Amino acid sequence: MLKSASRLRNACSMMKFATNFNSSKNFQRLGLPISPDPNFPYIPPTSPGNISKEPVIEPSFDFEVDPKALLDSVIRHQIYQQKIEEPFYVADLGDVVRKHNQWMTLLPRVKPYYAVKCNSDMAVLKTLASLGTGFDCASTEEIKAIIGLGVEPENIIFANPCKAKSNIRYARDQYVNLMTADCADELHKIHEINPNADVVIRIYADDSKAVCRLGKKFGIPIDLVPELVQEAKEIGVNIVGISFHVGSGCTDATAYSDALLLARKAFNDIEAAGYNPTLLDIGGGFPGYEQPGLVKFDEIASVIRPVLDELFPRNVKVIAEPGRYYVASAFSLSVNVTSKKEIKKPSAEKMCMYYVNDGVYGSFNNIMFDHAVLPNPHIYRKDSRMENNENAYECSIWGPTCDSMDCLTAKMMLPELEIGDWLSFSNMGAYTVAAASTFNGFAKARLIYVNSELE
Ligand SMILES: *Cc1c(COP(=O)(O)O)cnc(C)c1O
Repeated sequence: MLKSASRLRNACSMMKFATNFNSSKNFQRLGLPISPDPNFPYIPPTSPGNISKEPVIEPSFDFEVDPKALLDSVIRHQIYQQKIEEPFYVADLGDVVRKHNQWMTLLPRVKPYYAVKCNSDMAVLKTLASLGTGFDCASTEEIKAIIGLGVEPENIIFANPCKAKSNIRYARDQYVNLMTADCADELHKIHEINPNADVVIRIYADDSKAVCRLGKKFGIPIDLVPELVQEAKEIGVNIVGISFHVGSGCTDATAYSDALLLARKAFNDIEAAGYNPTLLDIGGGFPGYEQPGLVKFDEIASVIRPVLDELFPRNVKVIAEPGRYYVASAFSLSVNVTSKKEIKKPSAEKMCMYYVNDGVYGSFNNIMFDHAVLPNPHIYRKDSRMENNENAYECSIWGPTCDSMDCLTAKMMLPELEIGDWLSFSNMGAYTVAAASTFNGFAKARLIYVNSELE
């Protein structure tokens, strides 16, 4: 491992960006167009902050790479050779590929429909499209983006239970026929606009074990399913199956097996009404990385597999809508310390306030919306020195805007930092860049793509 890391570092220091672009083969293999294709890398819509930002693709290498060493060398290259000062993501598309391989190995019966809202970065979407996943879209714009990649409309589920009429019309015109609903008024609306729609009833699955609960917004309680199905019959809506979402951040894999039992009951209700349901959608919430106290993906998979086979015959197509699972660990974010204040309290240890150049209005909106807790960062010193066993002090970390809500953490223990030092946070791919704003004129973090998954 050490050997490959130093080879990487050598390769990194030798590389010339425009002329020595080794990764083209790998991107081609993934079906990704190669820069300077105007569609790739994806350039976010221009906003005051990011007009001058040019996304960069770092070369990849033609030998086995250790993804961590690759990431480290790319970050070092940006900081110490390119001497950039703005926050940047490194997105490892190879990590997405590995996630997909793991999914297909552990849940071969379940076809993943990636939840686009989690991270709609074009390179991620292209990678997934080339791997053959389906997509869960919730809006006209998401459908447009996925259709634009050449994905067949059959591989899209319009999984927003409460849709605007204009969005249903757009989906219909794009031949996206599969959609979810959880109430009678939605069924009427869908039928009026698209009488050929295939509708999946979203049931309420008890999400009391989840960190991000969705049940208070969506899902019909199981007891009311027979009534809704009767109404569907009367309207003439085609009901094809059941979906649920256990919420995100599950502590316990039984959330899924409990929900599968409810889904089986709902299947029975649909069948009793004379329908022939053939689609089961087990939603999202699968973890994108391991966190203490939270259930792991392989544990969920081994709980789900036998229950699926026991409750649902082979003619039932099973799909899922993983979001965070695919992207969380693929992105790391590096931010620069731009200001520092020392707080000297009498009779207390030194305490520092650090200000960094991305915050909760930008990438760290996951702290607000996704209940994320700031992970411990890796520190890159501005002078590239490496130290071990440094004393840790209490500090707070703040984003760049003038809002006092813009706080990444009120308390963390870190070695003393200097202005110009860098903090790198891993597992920053889910619900980060997707909902970032340019509030107060601060640009979104730039994206740099690598691919650690080579042939
Ligand atoms: C957000 C969402 C998902 C993805 O959830 P993750 O926790 O990211 O897996 C899946 N399905 C629906 C309907 C969603 O709204």
